[in-house]
Amino acid sequence: MLETVTTSPDFPIPDSQKAWVLGDVGELIHTEKPIPVPDKAEVLVRIDAIAVCGTDIEVIYHGPPALIHGGGPHNKNWTPGHEYMGTVVALGPGVDEYAIGDRITVEIHAGCGRCKRCREGMYTSCHNYGKNYQGNDKGHRANGFTTDGGFCEYAVNNINTMVKISNHMSDEEATLVVTAGTSMYGYTELGGLVAGDSVVVTGPGPIGLLGVAVAKALGASPVILSGTRDNRLKIGTKLGADHVINVRNEEDVVAKVKELTNGIGADFVLECSGAPNALNEAGYMVNRGGKICLAAFPSEQVPVDVMNIVANNIYLYGIRGEGQSGTKRAAALMEMKRFDATLIHTHTFHMDDLPEAIRYAKDRIEDAIKVVLKNDASLAKQAAAE
Ligand SMILES: [Zn+2]
Ligand SMILES: [Zn+2]
Repeated sequence: MLETVTTSPDFPIPDSQKAWVLGDVGELIHTEKPIPVPDKAEVLVRIDAIAVCGTDIEVIYHGPPALIHGGGPHNKNWTPGHEYMGTVVALGPGVDEYAIGDRITVEIHAGCGRCKRCREGMYTSCHNYGKNYQGNDKGHRANGFTTDGGFCEYAVNNINTMVKISNHMSDEEATLVVTAGTSMYGYTELGGLVAGDSVVVTGPGPIGLLGVAVAKALGASPVILSGTRDNRLKIGTKLGADHVINVRNEEDVVAKVKELTNGIGADFVLECSGAPNALNEAGYMVNRGGKICLAAFPSEQVPVDVMNIVANNIYLYGIRGEGQSGTKRAAALMEMKRFDATLIHTHTFHMDDLPEAIRYAKDRIEDAIKVVLKNDASLAKQAAAE
């Protein structure tokens, strides 16, 4: 570590770490890497636990939206993973916003801080995304997308990408804050949810399920969740859905939503399914002047009923990541125990077993929803508590 970096004997830092790197398509290699050194406005985080995200699987098997050294992420000695939590163990020069020993969870995008969108607070839409390598360095960071991520033991984080968490929140729960933060950002882009407004969430994946929880915590009424799997819809009910619709059993989902919203349709739709018919259905479910947030990667391109959108003054928003400090606001709701995010955590693995954890998440083995990996520090803490 450099002299300007502050460390503590309470948290000794080893000379190197075990880290997973992305090899060929779908290939993860366990290797040894140096411990990164925090610069100005950065800290070193000891990673205690990390959740697998659908986007990790996208990156590992397809590449985008990861962008490493101006190109794809494969075979670049690069570490994926972005939904982690841990402990601050070293401070970069001048950092006094955090102390060594702080428990934190992370969000992804630091942004470059110098482009138009960053200056507007839209750091997840940074115009210099991925520009952080030699000869083209604007300082952008998105750990697990454009810089090294969290499937390892130590990572450097910009101080603006962290949220302090209390000891009341478990490591597992803390890894889910960023997912709830994405849902929160969706509602923020829709104009901020007003208590009493009706919300439909389509697709009970992690963002959809926590989208239900966040909507309910913000006072939305009614909250309606649609999907195809009864076990997930049941979790949605526990997280606060007033009504669930299994689209396999319901002949006309749009009619059902209208029936549940006094005949006029919902004020907001948070689309988390990525299904081919999802946007058009959302357009028919939402009321005139209503708003749709698209939060899922689609599986294919589809024709869109533009006439319906124009004639009814419907607003469409695409969101990337968890902007506008959504993660901090979601963490606040979780600290208040306004919902139990751990209902979506289904499986836990040791960090050494990453390929198996990815397989569970990807193939939804044993109905896996959120799969969490833990490093020894987290397992030791757990053993001490038991
Ligand atoms: Zn994610
Ligand atoms: Zn920027």
